[in-house]
Amino acid sequence: MTQFDVTIIGGGIAGAGVAQCAAAAGYSVLLLEKGDYASQTSCSSSKLIHGGLRYLETMQLNLVYNALHERASLLKLAPELVHPIPFYIPVYSDTSRSVWTLRLGLSLYALLSGFNKLSRYKEIPKKDWSLLKDIKTEGLIAVFQYWDAQTNDQLLTNSVMKSALNLGASAHSHAEFIKAEKLSSGYKVSFNINKGISEVNTLMIINATGPWVNETLDKIYPQVKGCNIDWVQGTHIILDKTAPKKIFYLESKADQRVIFVMPWYGKTLIGTTEVVLEELPEYISPHAEEIDYLLSVYQSYYKGELPKIIRSFAGVRVLPKQKNAAFSRPRESIIWQSPQNPYIISLYGGKLTTFRSTAKKVVKHIKHTIGSKEKCANIDNLKL
Ligand SMILES: Cc1cc2nc3c(=O)[nH]c(=O)nc-3n(C[C@H](O)[C@H](O)[C@H](O)COP(=O)(O)OP(=O)(O)OC[C@H]3O[C@@H](n4cnc5c(N)ncnc54)[C@H](O)[C@@H]3O)c2cc1C
Repeated sequence: MTQFDVTIIGGGIAGAGVAQCAAAAGYSVLLLEKGDYASQTSCSSSKLIHGGLRYLETMQLNLVYNALHERASLLKLAPELVHPIPFYIPVYSDTSRSVWTLRLGLSLYALLSGFNKLSRYKEIPKKDWSLLKDIKTEGLIAVFQYWDAQTNDQLLTNSVMKSALNLGASAHSHAEFIKAEKLSSGYKVSFNINKGISEVNTLMIINATGPWVNETLDKIYPQVKGCNIDWVQGTHIILDKTAPKKIFYLESKADQRVIFVMPWYGKTLIGTTEVVLEELPEYISPHAEEIDYLLSVYQSYYKGELPKIIRSFAGVRVLPKQKNAAFSRPRESIIWQSPQNPYIISLYGGKLTTFRSTAKKVVKHIKHTIGSKEKCANIDNLKL
């Protein structure tokens, strides 16, 4: 039977990132994806490569610092996939985040990004507010502009997968993980491919199945305990309206959450919502109330007729189970390796932006568990 050092389950950005990093570290790697690569959460994000200005409100300084440094690396390594884009924050007399709060937040954001080219922010003078085009200006008291970056999440994931394959990793799409059974050394992994069952042996399993992380753990024998999670759905809509090459950072007047209005292949992308799901549906799709919510935020800021919705999509993120609102829960990824069974690592949550740093941490755990191999590449030098 074919033997691998590491079998990764899940071909989203997390699985692709670990496949690339583990293959670069010299491990033999197999990745299994039940659908197409990047066909779930990793194609349904807000497509931002960002530090996450709003995470400063919940003092997630570590996450913001790390994400801002990952943003800088991705701008260098993937210049065709990740590009800088200006963000605009209009502040109205009834905006809950005051001008001072935003000034403070943006200064801290600049500090955490290490004062590079993208860390500059400014206040747009009133005479230039016309650049906001059809955004309402009644009650407007200030406009801030700062920088972050935008990507195509699906193309980025596919490009990381390609890099993993170039480094010698094996991968199968339309290959569903069925079960893993403990052997005297490692695991026997069974998966469904081409309507038949295939089996491989592996020393370690990396569970990168996103929202299905605990469902995957249930298929591993003997059973491995996971973390308690909530599934939080986020929806985006695409409006049939040409968008300028800038992103608007708007506060929902109903619940003070932040909504982004972004350009997307010439049209206008708006998102996202946060709805805690009781259970994970077979097909993840937007709820009517989420679409109404996004349209109402848009309408509260934009003049003119409401454009037609041409597409909507939803993705589900995994957040640690807590009583507080999803908006204020930690967004750092949890790398779960039980001391009783260090051969299984499960990834919970995380960001598209920080996939490289998560992958590096996972590979450290792999090294610690099964030892080092001869490194064949450094992912910090691999262009995407
Ligand atoms: C609405 C929303 C907006 C977001 N916006 C941003 C953003 O702008 N910037 C940012 O940095 N982050 C953002 N994020 C976070 C980011 O999108 C996620 O952290 C990331 O995409 C998760 O990737 P993943 O690989 O863990 O999960 P997924 O992409 O869901 O991948 C898991 C894969 O596992 C596969 N799988 C499941 N079960 C099996 C099985 N039995 N066998 C084989 N394969 C299986 C699935 O098919 C899936 O492809 C956002 C998240 C959401 C939900």
